[in-house]
Amino acid sequence: MSAAACAHTEAISGVKRPKARECEECVKIGAQWVHLRTCQQCGATLCCDSSPNRHASKHAHATRHPVIASAEPGERWLYCFPDDAFAEY
Ligand SMILES: [Zn+2]
Ligand SMILES: [Zn+2]
Ligand SMILES: [Zn+2]
Repeated sequence: MSAAACAHTEAISGVKRPKARECEECVKIGAQWVHLRTCQQCGATLCCDSSPNRHASKHAHATRHPVIASAEPGERWLYCFPDDAFAEY
């Protein structure tokens, strides 16, 4: 972990990667997404805030799971919702 962003991202030792390259919630409703994020608490892969349904954000607020990782190839960063903090890994 390069940047000391917050206790939530520092507590993550192994970053969860997406099980499938799709938003679990968009697939159910036949919606489109832009980018994918993976919840670091439960491993759910959901869509970003540029997507119409913003499922990752909604999930974080509904479940209080604080940290997501980018699920995009080549992107290695975490984001903490409560602290509004990014950390690269
Ligand atoms: Zn945090
Ligand atoms: Zn979605
Ligand atoms: Zn979660």
